[in-house]
Amino acid sequence: MVDEQLIPRGIHNLQTLEAMRTVPRHLFVEDAMKDQAYGDFPLPIGRGQTISQPYIVALMTQTLGLKGHESVLEIGTGSGYQAAILSQICAKVYTVERVDSLLVEARKIFDSLHYLNILTKLDDGTNGWPEFAPYDAIIVTAGGPRVPEPLLEQLADPGVLVIPVGDRGVQDLRRVSKKDGQMTEKTIEFVRFVSLIGDHGWESG
Ligand code: SAH
Repeated sequence: MVDEQLIPRGIHNLQTLEAMRTVPRHLFVEDAMKDQAYGDFPLPIGRGQTISQPYIVALMTQTLGLKGHESVLEIGTGSGYQAAILSQICAKVYTVERVDSLLVEARKIFDSLHYLNILTKLDDGTNGWPEFAPYDAIIVTAGGPRVPEPLLEQLADPGVLVIPVGDRGVQDLRRVSKKDGQMTEKTIEFVRFVSLIGDHGWESG
């Protein structure tokens, strides 16, 4: 996966590559799909949701530019795979999911792998997780119509936020950075994510 899919497509960040080599992706997919777990595509994880393609997980992780000391907020735990990757290269991961059954499964895997630096919460993540703010980095793994305002407020200065923004079918993956009170935005790539549903996202599934 790393040598054939990630490195040839420009994933060069060593911590990202190392995490993608270490975390057992097959544990985060359903039994019937285990043989496809390392393929170059997203996979269904139930409840109409998906675990992202390995390349997209790596790209988003690399885009955050983590050094190791950061606290990171993720919106959209899903299978838990992205949170697991982040847990290898930052101090603390706070991850929020709105679907209870997905969060319960992800929590089980984190516990079995002893990924003790991941904290989870069942909630609408478009409101962020104010209790532990500010976050050095925020990653949203579902596509919304705009950048949720509470996430910008809960982003540290300096801080980086990565989020797919667009319509329900296709979005651009944006990197928003905050520095000295100023926001700058850059589009990284076109992507297709499931919908971000909530107060500052889409209305329903
Ligand atoms: N990061 C996940 C990708 C999951 S797909 C992984 O590695 O597998 C996106 C997830 O976002 C879905 O599980 C969906 O239920 C969740 N989601 C959508 N809107 C949300 C919201 N407002 N708050 C929290 N989670 C949300």
